[in-house]
Amino acid sequence: MTRYTGLIERYRNRLPVSADTRIISLGEGNTPLIQLQNIPRLIGKDVDIYVKFEGLNPTGSFKDRGMTMAVTKAVEAGSHAIICASTGNTSASAAAYAVRAGIKAFVLIPEGKIALGKLAQTLMYDAKIIQISGNFDRGMALVKEVADHAPVTIVNSINPFRIDGQKTAAFEIVDALGFAPDYHCLPVGNAGNITAYWKGYTEYTTDRVCGNRPVMCGYQAAGAAPFVLGEMVDNPETVATAIRIGHPQSWDFAWAAQRESGGWFDKFTDEKILAAQKMLSQFEGIFCEPASAASLAGALHDIGSGKIPEGSVIVCTLTGNGIKDPEIAMMQCADAKPVTIDASLDAVKRAILDNL
Ligand SMILES: *Cc1c(COP(=O)(O)O)cnc(C)c1O
Repeated sequence: MTRYTGLIERYRNRLPVSADTRIISLGEGNTPLIQLQNIPRLIGKDVDIYVKFEGLNPTGSFKDRGMTMAVTKAVEAGSHAIICASTGNTSASAAAYAVRAGIKAFVLIPEGKIALGKLAQTLMYDAKIIQISGNFDRGMALVKEVADHAPVTIVNSINPFRIDGQKTAAFEIVDALGFAPDYHCLPVGNAGNITAYWKGYTEYTTDRVCGNRPVMCGYQAAGAAPFVLGEMVDNPETVATAIRIGHPQSWDFAWAAQRESGGWFDKFTDEKILAAQKMLSQFEGIFCEPASAASLAGALHDIGSGKIPEGSVIVCTLTGNGIKDPEIAMMQCADAKPVTIDASLDAVKRAILDNL
């Protein structure tokens, strides 16, 4: 047995590192590809759906895949500080990897619009948190400007090393299945991840590790759907805060992935997204964060309409862990109050027998 030490070591020959590079890793990647068992039966369709549960990365989201590369390269280049704009997960990830590297992290977050767990993480990792009275898009613009005026390395997904790290998720899927799926469904915010998956699948097909690339399906929240509208959105709104983005940075790359794969973008209401989140928890035992569930909401919609035909192999990326956003979860389950009883054998017995 060799101890797993992160995705850079695993895919070293496909990443821009040398034998001398000091690798900054928390053991990210190697996340489970879980086959859904109950939901396909429930919807009565002959489809093979897998979820790539990225919520099991060290800080609870896929951002760690990109961050291990971005911070490794920042340190290699002699940088002592990193900066990002974030809807929450990038800040948590940047903060953790900065600690690991022994450098500083500055994170710009939209005031009051990041999930509680993400804020708690970022505070614990001791990053310098800068709250702005503006949304992610404004924060992103400021980060790009300030990087010209201060010695900080940007670790948002406009940093190409982020994309390189994140492409390894596509490698893992092909390595696990032995082939590429027919369809790959994922939530789209800033569009770095759809860009990264497409890059990963493309590299593997070019090198004949797999024979085909999947159709890429990017799903957005109805109130933050620039790719569906075909234009930037100035005041994006959704409970799925991780995809509350109106001016995606990887605009052209994401369109290329859609076009070259024969894929599409679509949007879903918050209600539909939250219903998919609940469904995964309730029927499969998988708790992802709201934004992540856009992938399943979209997949189920397109399977229902036949746009994704029966017989297909589908992978949905679950981008982040549900425990990051306890407030939305509690709101969704407001009716499901725990029962309170006497601390006696009789009362506990009754509570069980009444509910079998
Ligand atoms: C960052 C993030 C997204 C959006 O990914 P992009 O690369 O910005 O499109 C989706 N879900 C979660 C949980 C995220 O943290």
